[in-house]
Amino acid sequence: MKNNPQFSYWEKSLMPSECDVCIVGGGFTGAWTAHYLSQMTPGLKIVILENQIVSRGASTRNAGFLCYGSPSEVLEDIENMGTEKNRELLLMRYAGLQQIKNTVPASAAQISWDGGSEIFTPDNPMLYERVMDQLQEINRVIESTTGQSPYTPLPNDQLPGGGKNGSKGIAIRGEGQVQPAKLLTYINNLNTSRGVSLCEGTAVSSIHKEGDHCAINTNRSLRIKSRKVLIATNGFYNRLYPASQEVIPARNTVLLLKTPENFTLKGNYHAERGYIYFRSVDGMLLIGGGRHWMAEEENGDELRVNEELKSRLTQWAKENLFNRDTKLDEVMSWSGIIGTGSEKYPLLEWKDENVLAAVRLSGMGVALSPVIARKAAAMLLNNK
Ligand SMILES: Cc1cc2nc3c(=O)[nH]c(=O)nc-3n(C[C@H](O)[C@H](O)[C@H](O)COP(=O)(O)OP(=O)(O)OC[C@H]3O[C@@H](n4cnc5c(N)ncnc54)[C@H](O)[C@@H]3O)c2cc1C
Repeated sequence: MKNNPQFSYWEKSLMPSECDVCIVGGGFTGAWTAHYLSQMTPGLKIVILENQIVSRGASTRNAGFLCYGSPSEVLEDIENMGTEKNRELLLMRYAGLQQIKNTVPASAAQISWDGGSEIFTPDNPMLYERVMDQLQEINRVIESTTGQSPYTPLPNDQLPGGGKNGSKGIAIRGEGQVQPAKLLTYINNLNTSRGVSLCEGTAVSSIHKEGDHCAINTNRSLRIKSRKVLIATNGFYNRLYPASQEVIPARNTVLLLKTPENFTLKGNYHAERGYIYFRSVDGMLLIGGGRHWMAEEENGDELRVNEELKSRLTQWAKENLFNRDTKLDEVMSWSGIIGTGSEKYPLLEWKDENVLAAVRLSGMGVALSPVIARKAAAMLLNNK
């Protein structure tokens, strides 16, 4: 390209033009895959191409829960996918948390392992009864998978708000909290120290086969030739593969609220089969989810915030954690895009002999991504 207004000759010399593995998408899945590839094969030339700068689709925009499922979520998963498949999913989520624990120092990403709880509100007493009926069996499934029995009923005085509105709770062992953007930065720094190139602000527009290589075209005048390609675009998968039915992008909203007094609840809190989640962050209440209230409207991959969803989440917090007339002021709100599908299970499969896809991590990817990434790295290196 002789006439190139985007880059100078000097800048162009810093850009990668060839590599062994090109990773499309720089969220947790892409970053962890680069981590395992560079660990398994030092010297491998790896390039990550990421559309956004600093921000990511979901990895830097979630609630920072290190979790493997609340009791009602796991019960629903067992009902939908059967015990065996759910056991595999639980094992991956649990193993992912151990991989994070073993790789990332807690101080690098504000990690704490304060556990979690599921809250059952009085408007759906049946859900609590169904879960309590099955609690022993769910504990048995998880214990046979992970070696620990995680769920125990929570005494009322340990519920947020003291359970005065008739809420019930179940404590969850082994969950943690993280600052997700710092977690990603830590993995990226490890990768950079091993020679991985991260090109932000670079969207892949097409991938073509050229002999035994792939030619990757981007929105900038950057074209890369790579032996293998990993598609780690999760909820944005359809942008590169519009004919695909395998991933449905869905928005997840998060709200940060200032409470009348410093909000210092420890641990993660889940409600309504995992569709509502909250925790404290820097003395504020972080609450997110509510997608089950308006699933159709919240399908899509545009990063916008639904005003009605925000007001319903705020109302939920008032009714179940404070009082109806408590003043909760919005500090910030945002959304992230998750990749869901007809199956709540990640998709890891070859598109062709050079291109592997690792997508559809749903609302579980903080925990799942290290495991999917390790498998993807082995597949890319072993060609199977
Ligand atoms: C609000 C919210 C709460 C969540 N809560 C939890 C939780 O409690 N526990 C849990 O485990 N998980 C949770 N998740 C899910 C978790 O955050 C995701 O599953 C995980 O971050 C997915 O990582 P990823 O790398 O696969 O996708 P992403 O982080 O979305 O990364 C994919 C990247 O690909 C880039 N991209 C897309 N197209 C292109 C292209 N053509 N060229 C270059 N780059 C491209 C995008 O910009 C994006 O940054 C939550 C998610 C959200 C949004």
